[in-house]
Amino acid sequence: MADKLYLIKEGEISLKGGNRNLFEKQLRHNIKNKLRPYHSDITKQKGRLYARISDEAPDELVEKALKTTPGITGFARAHQAEKSVDGIIAKAKEILASSDFRNGDTFRVTVKREDKAFPLNSHDMACELADAVFSLFPDMTVDLRHPQHTLTCEIRNGVYLYTGEEKGEGGLPYATAGKGMLLLSGGIDSPVAGYMMAKRGMKLDAIYFHAYPYTSELALEKVKKLASIIAPYLGGLRLFVVPFTEGQEYIRDHGYEEEATLMFRAAMMQTAEKLAKENGALAIVTGEALSQVASQTLDAMSFTDSMTELLVLRPLAGMDKEEITEKARRIGSYETSILPYEDCCVVFSPKHPVTRPVKEVARKHFEDLGMDSIIDKAVRETEVYSFDPMGREITDENA
Ligand code: ATP
Ligand code: MG
Repeated sequence: MADKLYLIKEGEISLKGGNRNLFEKQLRHNIKNKLRPYHSDITKQKGRLYARISDEAPDELVEKALKTTPGITGFARAHQAEKSVDGIIAKAKEILASSDFRNGDTFRVTVKREDKAFPLNSHDMACELADAVFSLFPDMTVDLRHPQHTLTCEIRNGVYLYTGEEKGEGGLPYATAGKGMLLLSGGIDSPVAGYMMAKRGMKLDAIYFHAYPYTSELALEKVKKLASIIAPYLGGLRLFVVPFTEGQEYIRDHGYEEEATLMFRAAMMQTAEKLAKENGALAIVTGEALSQVASQTLDAMSFTDSMTELLVLRPLAGMDKEEITEKARRIGSYETSILPYEDCCVVFSPKHPVTRPVKEVARKHFEDLGMDSIIDKAVRETEVYSFDPMGREITDENA
């Protein structure tokens, strides 16, 4: 069984000092895990990873796996050539013949010569390769600045040739920065928030507060779909679905109407904290953006922050809706997020919510509600769904 070769570029990892090995090891693990059950072998050589992946793995699957793995800035399907001028030219012609190089288009050749013992320097080797291009495509022209096509040749211990390079996500490999709990609603923001923290190396599980029948089964299905969409960027995740109908009704019946959202958010923080502690997470991640809605003013967020001793990360705090939407489109969550099923905040939203709560007063009101046993019960009755690193739901049948 033959293998195909992918050359993978690391971005920020290459700036790491003493810890670099740890980051690289995790990245290799993350890639291999995604390409399970296909055999893959990943070696490294100075700022590059070389992944040999079973030919049986479909190209689209490998590309999706690499495109969604944080820590990779770019990758290309590469071919190894014999380490001689003639060997390189012969291999280049073979690759070019089945590439998307076309007469009439522009191209450039890039040669990186790490092995200074190689007889030709980079410039001379590039000229030889350009001649090879012209021999196959006499009507192509060179454009060094904005070429439509690029042929790259890296001369290291081995020689690697590739045309075309796909962009990666950048960032750092997930599972290098500890664990967090993402509060995942059905909206546009929270999937993006999860994606952003995963790109900074966090491993995430998600929590969804479900208030059936106020929120329908379709709302839950939507959140599960969002979990499966972001799963590849997160290396898989578990989705904890907390039944919160009783909690919502209790707040509605026993609290001040204009504080309902704040009280719900306080209960969410306390529930999330319990689940975080049971699952080794150090932080809670939300999709809040400053002043987006009444519960996201500085006063309101200071209050919700004070309801947990865990670190609360809000990666979207400084972004506007357009910026968030753009990211949501890029990661493919937008179309699902805009499906109409209401989430429970909307159903129980007060008409005139408090926007500037006094922290101590709101804390006292929450304490007076006495929700400990309701929260404990919700945690006990939480259901878990799991998604693998390619976004497939793991069920009893396929586990
Ligand atoms: P999103 O912010 O995801 O677009 P939204 O705008 O409807 O959804 P908000 O009411 O703005 O959500 O809530 C802010 C944040 O609180 C969300 O980004 C999410 O992190 C969390 N959150 C809200 N509702 C829920 C819920 N039902 N389950 C889990 N987390 C929730
Ligand atoms: Mg929001």
